[in-house]
Amino acid sequence: MMILPEFELARPRSVDEAIGVARAATDGFDYLGGGTDLLCNYKWGLNTNPTVISLRHIGELQRMADGSVGGGVTLAAIEKDADFLHDFPVFRRTLDRLASPLIRQTGTLAGNILVDTRCIWLNQSLFARKALGKCLKADGPECRVVKGSIDRCYANYSGDMAPVFMVLGGTMRLAGPDGERTLLLRDFFALDGIRRNVKQKEEIIVSLDLPSDAKTLRASYQKFRVREAWDFPELAVAASARMDGDRIEELSLVANAVASIPLWMDEIAAKYRGETLSDATIDAIAEDMRKAAKPVKATLLPPGYRKAMVGVMTARALREIRGDVVTEKQSGEAA
Ligand SMILES: Cc1cc2nc3c(=O)[nH]c(=O)nc-3n(C[C@H](O)[C@H](O)[C@H](O)COP(=O)(O)OP(=O)(O)OC[C@H]3O[C@@H](n4cnc5c(N)ncnc54)[C@H](O)[C@@H]3O)c2cc1C
Ligand code: SF4
Repeated sequence: MMILPEFELARPRSVDEAIGVARAATDGFDYLGGGTDLLCNYKWGLNTNPTVISLRHIGELQRMADGSVGGGVTLAAIEKDADFLHDFPVFRRTLDRLASPLIRQTGTLAGNILVDTRCIWLNQSLFARKALGKCLKADGPECRVVKGSIDRCYANYSGDMAPVFMVLGGTMRLAGPDGERTLLLRDFFALDGIRRNVKQKEEIIVSLDLPSDAKTLRASYQKFRVREAWDFPELAVAASARMDGDRIEELSLVANAVASIPLWMDEIAAKYRGETLSDATIDAIAEDMRKAAKPVKATLLPPGYRKAMVGVMTARALREIRGDVVTEKQSGEAA
């Protein structure tokens, strides 16, 4: 049985108070949302800290209105918000296939954006890790997936909400010891499975915000997972477009769960703005996405298969945006 290690639990009532507790915790701390990711890692003995600061009692993080979602809002609350889903229907299917109903009941939006990178070498019990050998991300000298890497971890980013917020032009509001700042979510991530993003340790995600013109985008999130009941993505593609008839006016693409961060594919998207969204264009974009994705063996499925499926999922996303009826298959055939 895996049991939680001992820690001090703080329950601040405001963002400022939480940041104060964090600054005083000189031996190390973690913020806690719903705990569905953090506490699993604690049970595995992965990078634990002596102080845990729960953000559940901070009202400011629970607000949701007009495309702004507080960091502490649960995934289930987003799923039940008819106005939000009406304005941004892509989240309906994204949420429906994210973890399980029970986890969505507890898991929060900020916790989902910050879900730790995953790796088949690391996300194991201590017993298994001792047998396999420790790695760079937890007390070891080098990466086991990319042999010889002593300064970069290649664990997989597996959050489902970030890529969708990215293609809709979402921004993130952070509060920290030096005040507040806002940045585009696409600029938030940093390509290393340990560092993961540009957030300072004490900073709190206050909200994620969508611009009002995001309502006029067509968007799709296509996720490939091993178990249909619930599972992290083995790979996924998020896409959004603003169409002028059948011509692509704006296009955004993210390849998800094939690297340590959701990959913002701006060069590929820029190449096809102004083109007609024909079968030939869809095939060309899908092929560019396939070529650009370079997954490593950090998840269950072989990297070559996941790379090929990035192309399939891109085509599926673009067909959905075009208005085709897209069927979901678990095979490698194009839809
Ligand atoms: C069986 C299982 C299946 C899962 N499947 C999926 C899946 O399919 N897709 C998916 O995306 N996820 C999945 N998850 C991961 C996880 O449950 C979700 O990502 C969830 O949304 C995490 O939210 P949380 O509030 O529980 O995060 P927590 O575990 O509380 O925190 C996660 C991280 O975020 C930090 N944090 C939390 N809130 C804030 C804040 N406001 N400001 C700053 N830091 C903060 C914490 O310090 C921690 O580092 C799964 C988990 C399990 C156990
Ligand atoms: S990618 Fe390498 S360093 Fe990162 S968790 Fe896996 S084995 Fe460890």
